[in-house]
Amino acid sequence: SIVVTGATGNLGRFVVEGLLEKVPAEQITAVVRNREKAAGLAARGVRVAVANYDDPTSFEGVVSAGDKVLLVSGSEADKDRVAQHRTVIGAAKAAGAALLAYTSAPGALRAALADDHRGTEEALVASGLPYVLLRNGWYNENYTEQLAPVLEHGAVTQAAGEGRVASAARADYAAAAVAVLTGEGHEGKTYELAGDTAWSFAEYAAELSRQTGKEITYNPVPEETYVGILTGAGLPEPFARILAGVDASIAKGELAGTSGDLSRLTGRPTTPIADSIAAALKG
Ligand code: NDP
Repeated sequence: SIVVTGATGNLGRFVVEGLLEKVPAEQITAVVRNREKAAGLAARGVRVAVANYDDPTSFEGVVSAGDKVLLVSGSEADKDRVAQHRTVIGAAKAAGAALLAYTSAPGALRAALADDHRGTEEALVASGLPYVLLRNGWYNENYTEQLAPVLEHGAVTQAAGEGRVASAARADYAAAAVAVLTGEGHEGKTYELAGDTAWSFAEYAAELSRQTGKEITYNPVPEETYVGILTGAGLPEPFARILAGVDASIAKGELAGTSGDLSRLTGRPTTPIADSIAAALKG
């Protein structure tokens, strides 16, 4: 069967939906922390397993020989995520999984955020399991789900200079994972997944202006200023520094690459940022 961790998360939900279109529900195992959050999936016939990356014993019996596993990277910034991910890799290895696909970070990304992903990739390769690296680029939604302060102030404030971002919608990355989990011949591959086109924050602000009819400008600020703005808005400083570090990477062009792997895997163009803006303004 196909085992998906983080199945009640934003990305994992799309992956399970995509799998349900291609394989019978009983061949899908949704790994979740909270069984109640997965009630809808269980009602549709998906097998639900409750397990936590922090607890290796909770993964006993979750993976079976021959399974294909999607390890969705954890979201707890204060945890040792490499150790968490090793738990899943270890369980898949012990069970004799046929494949483990991991949602990693772009190979060009040097920001601190990428450290856990590099560490997990190394652990996965060293495990000897057949693997696929899904090096996911940035989500459109990282920006379009944060529109309230932008619309309030009429400004997109980032520390990304003139850098460009080749982002795509979460649903695009999920569709790529579905293609890998249901297709053949992906063992040992590293996919650099990103949107088909890269945009700048000035262009992003201009598109917001066009769609809202309000004047919205890009306000580029230095990295330290951005850390101050984020902590002032209530973000813990370590997390603010991680986000500012990503912006510094964007300024250097580290998230601008467009390999074409994403649209090749899904067989369709990636979702333009303008479409995600429109969806966010409607919702
Ligand atoms: P979400 O935060 O929506 O999902 C994270 C999932 O991981 C959730 O299902 C969560 O469970 C699960 N999870 C977290 N910690 C544990 C744990 N200790 N044990 C078991 N499960 C756990 O993020 P997205 O789905 O949007 O993104 C997926 C991942 O991609 C993120 O976790 C993060 O690593 C990375 N990411 C990538 C971005 C990008 O732009 N490429 C942007 C943001 C994140 P639960 O449903 O119970 O909360």
